[in-house]
Amino acid sequence: MAKKFVCNGMLGKLSRLLRIIGIDSTYTNEGMGILLLARKEGRTIITCNTRLRGREGVFFLSETIPQQQLTAVVDAYNLWSEIRPFSRCVICNDELTPVAKDAVKGRVPFFTYKHFDEYAECARCKRVYWKGSHYRNMLKEVENVLARG
Ligand SMILES: [Zn+2]
Repeated sequence: MAKKFVCNGMLGKLSRLLRIIGIDSTYTNEGMGILLLARKEGRTIITCNTRLRGREGVFFLSETIPQQQLTAVVDAYNLWSEIRPFSRCVICNDELTPVAKDAVKGRVPFFTYKHFDEYAECARCKRVYWKGSHYRNMLKEVENVLARG
């Protein structure tokens, strides 16, 4: 089973970076309530909250820069072979499904439709993804792990 995470507190950015590289990662702003939530969903907690430090199922981060936090998590759980950019919705964490070009006609800008043939869709929010400039910008945010992976 692939590793699943829930980030809390100050780690919204990290949670997003994990989703960009295809790792299952949600976010919550709950304090100690995160313990219950994590157990229910089978997620490992990633936190900077010292009150959670040392508890079972908690990965405590001392890094403050999101890119460094990302490397620390990928290293700690050896996720290098699980990195799959463009496989998960950056907004809601659901897995993306490839969709036919015809299916996105009228839903993406004309220029995009003309220049890209590969699309994927989030089943939950219906957001359409393609490997355009937005995608490349997202990859730049995680290039430190992509370069190593
Ligand atoms: Zn979505």
